[in-house]
Amino acid sequence: MRPNIDLRLIVDSLRKVAATPYFDARVLTYSDHLCRAVEFALAHKPSLPDAALRQLSEVVWIAHQYLVGSISREAPYEMEFCLKKALDEWKKKECVITTSLSLDLYGAFHFRQADPWEIIQNILPSFDGKGFNPALILISLPRVYRSKPIFCIPLYHELGHFVDRHWGITTLAQVMIRQASLFGLSGMPPGHWAEFFADLFATCYVGESSIRVLQTAAPNNPTSATHPSTSDRVALMRAFLDGTPDPKIKVIQNALIRLGAPVLAPRYLLPTISSAYDDLRTYVVQSVPEVHGLLASAWAYFEGALANGFPWARTPLHEGNIEKVVNDLTEKSIRNYSIRMMWQNATPSAI
Ligand SMILES: [Zn+2]
Repeated sequence: MRPNIDLRLIVDSLRKVAATPYFDARVLTYSDHLCRAVEFALAHKPSLPDAALRQLSEVVWIAHQYLVGSISREAPYEMEFCLKKALDEWKKKECVITTSLSLDLYGAFHFRQADPWEIIQNILPSFDGKGFNPALILISLPRVYRSKPIFCIPLYHELGHFVDRHWGITTLAQVMIRQASLFGLSGMPPGHWAEFFADLFATCYVGESSIRVLQTAAPNNPTSATHPSTSDRVALMRAFLDGTPDPKIKVIQNALIRLGAPVLAPRYLLPTISSAYDDLRTYVVQSVPEVHGLLASAWAYFEGALANGFPWARTPLHEGNIEKVVNDLTEKSIRNYSIRMMWQNATPSAI
């Protein structure tokens, strides 16, 4: 349609959902700044080329899809909490994580790159953004997994794609390979580098579960133009977890060091959840490494319950009930921890 009318519709939509309660002020602030920039563009429309307005409309529309998902009541708060904790160590500037709930199930997990502020600065140089320029992280997940944290483990992989772009990690790794002609890796497609890094990133936080989730979702996927085969991806994650030397890991670690970024290393602790979960009680998470590890422990518990049932169930539960119990306990365990952290970090005036 006409970009100026589309932009007005987007602003109306963002203003409406921003009126619903949500406790992540950064998402609301981002949304508010975006609306101000669009309103500025519409006010100066006569001096703007139509192509510029269309470009703005396209990028704002993409951002809008994810912002709406994150400022409505449906955001997967618990997973966003986990992802923010993972991101803390890697972000070079202010970042805003947004999630979009997809009606698709297969292929719904994805990361998308869109930087409205870069375009706003280009086409609206007279707009005063007051130094507001955070990175927008756009992540999608299936709507039916919104309250199913262990089924959202692939989001760590998607966050890995953002971290890769944020630092230019696999881009540098490929340059280093070309310069040194090392390891026979020079022919590997860029997409494969990106997937391998995202896998390793996920493995740093959720360990073995990143392998099991991939084997469950894509057991026999062959190599494609964009993705390595599942068996190659699993082999690399396994090598990382076992500490087995691998040239791809070595190149990526060297690229991280050269960039001054954190290096790949396990950042999780695996809590023993069976005594709590066996009694249908939540697990009391003690630390950030444990909140990541909880997802891995819960995935292992889920697979164990599918194979052996629950100790308290007189009759075998069907798999739908098993996933519901494990996901509910995990979601509540993360939520309890996040609330405790908010309470501990609250200043007296905020209370
Ligand atoms: Zn990927």
